[in-house]
Amino acid sequence: MTASKSITILGATGSVGGSTLSLVREHPDRFVVHALTANSDYEGLAKLALEFKPAHVVIADEAFYSPLSETLAGTGIEVCAGAPALIEIAAQKVDLVVGAIVGIAGLAPVWNAVEAGQTIALANKEALVSAGHLIMPAAQKHGANILPIDSEHNAIFQCLRHERQDDIERIILTASGGPFLRMTPAEMRQVTIEQALQHPNWSMGPKVTIDSATMMNKGLELIEAAWLFDKGATKLDAIIHPQSTLHGLVGFKDGSWLAHLGIADMRVPISYALGWPERLSWKAQPFDFGSALQLDFAPVNEAKFPCFRLAKQVMGGADEQAIILNAANEEAVERFLKGDIGFCDIAGQVEAALAAGDFGIVADSFDAVVALDREIRQR
Ligand code: NDP
Repeated sequence: MTASKSITILGATGSVGGSTLSLVREHPDRFVVHALTANSDYEGLAKLALEFKPAHVVIADEAFYSPLSETLAGTGIEVCAGAPALIEIAAQKVDLVVGAIVGIAGLAPVWNAVEAGQTIALANKEALVSAGHLIMPAAQKHGANILPIDSEHNAIFQCLRHERQDDIERIILTASGGPFLRMTPAEMRQVTIEQALQHPNWSMGPKVTIDSATMMNKGLELIEAAWLFDKGATKLDAIIHPQSTLHGLVGFKDGSWLAHLGIADMRVPISYALGWPERLSWKAQPFDFGSALQLDFAPVNEAKFPCFRLAKQVMGGADEQAIILNAANEEAVERFLKGDIGFCDIAGQVEAALAAGDFGIVADSFDAVVALDREIRQR
């Protein structure tokens, strides 16, 4: 029988965290939960802690330390709070760290997990977009494994399992196109927050759902793929595939293509990372070879989705550009979700930040990346 794995889930109360824990729930003999973390949802975290009985829980926002401690009093679960505790827990040795915090907040714990030489199932794309130039060499130096659980990257990862780097000619990520694929630009200027939060194929947290609607998500994914698979911009592309049945394709120098098909459920890629290097069985919905095998493809309309165009422009450029793109996008999405700006203003704000150019910080260390990210947000 396969030995059980110890696991820490950073961002346990979110969408990816929940999908991960639903798989852990199916396999109580295969996983021992070491630690769970959240930002402010102390009630959600306490509920998960009572069910999965981790040794530690960490709540990033210290304001929620007291109510969390009170709820878990007498359980023997250690409760910690604050950013330093989050970073420390990421470095505590386990078999697998799941990086499922949203946004740049996920960078510091992921960085610490990498420096500790952990195996990391990585969903948090913002960490690689902003600091891939530091994370990938650090992973090599410290012997950390990065297993992508973003569905498209996981698809490519699976296609490349037995392939030689020199044989790969192209990597293509598929994109559903989000809820506004068939809208005109004029209609897109009127969309509401509620409409933007309705993804046609995937159920995800709010930030990545808005990124999918603007197609910034696909742009961030291309930058993420460049780091994960060590390929330059000319070898990477994205294609619209509204069914989200085929998640990634790899073209080889002999004219062969490998592609990954699967149901649109994050538990497919997450189960792959949880089981890696084996496969983990779970109660997946059967793949429907009747209706599901409608495979339509189209190029991305960059004029209609300027966020995608901006991300592509940044790819392969100076490392600082990707940090500016990511920070400006996070701020703009937050403003849109608060109702302060319109949907189409998101791209405008990112473009303005990129045009502002030099922020006077060279992102050649972890601290410099954090400083640059902060500077962009303050401006
Ligand atoms: P959610 O918004 O659903 O969850 C985010 C998690 O991060 C929550 O546990 C949240 O805690 C925690 N968190 C938020 N802010 C902080 C902070 N400042 N410090 C510490 N923890 C924080 O996000 P998703 O699960 O949708 O996405 C997570 C990541 O995975 C993103 O980078 C996303 O792009 C990527 N991803 C997600 C997919 C999906 O299907 N959802 C698919 C592919 C990639 P709390 O609940 O307390 O706020």
